[in-house]
Amino acid sequence: MDRIEVKGESIECWDCGASFYLTAEEAEWFDRRGLHKPRRCPGCRKARHKRNPPTNYDEIIAQAKALFPNDYRQGVRQ
Ligand SMILES: [Zn+2]
Repeated sequence: MDRIEVKGESIECWDCGASFYLTAEEAEWFDRRGLHKPRRCPGCRKARHKRNPPTNYDEIIAQAKALFPNDYRQGVRQ
């Protein structure tokens, strides 16, 4: 129960070239919403959204935060 095998893929960020990991669960989430899989690492995605937020940004972020807390923990100082 404490270990779940999840298939995923390693993606190279378009912006900074860093590799990041997209789990199958995350990929499915993007598929379900009819979105392309992310091509940028969480850090670059965040930076882009800040510069150019989509209209439903708040809704997307709220959902993404709930689903991928690890993405959003990065860079947050506590
Ligand atoms: Zn990046």
